[in-house]
Amino acid sequence: MKKAMLMAVAILFSATGVFAAHNGKMLPDTTKNQKAKPVKVQYTCTMHPEVLSDKPGKCPKCGMTLVKKEPAKKKADSMKMKM
Ligand SMILES: [Zn+2]
Repeated sequence: MKKAMLMAVAILFSATGVFAAHNGKMLPDTTKNQKAKPVKVQYTCTMHPEVLSDKPGKCPKCGMTLVKKEPAKKKADSMKMKM
């Protein structure tokens, strides 16, 4: 069953690629973003930042519900302020 799924994904992917190359040069990649989500989300405890999990759950130390940890992107801002 997994193989068929892979095939379907591969076909879908190449079809989208051809379509985009043919037709989507001037359009933003909104369709791409809706399909693929390669963003890695981690969950952490607000009280224990050292606790990290790649799926939602509870903190093993205090039992609090883990919250999503967003990747920080402050580097781009500091680059801008150079001048
Ligand atoms: Zn905790």
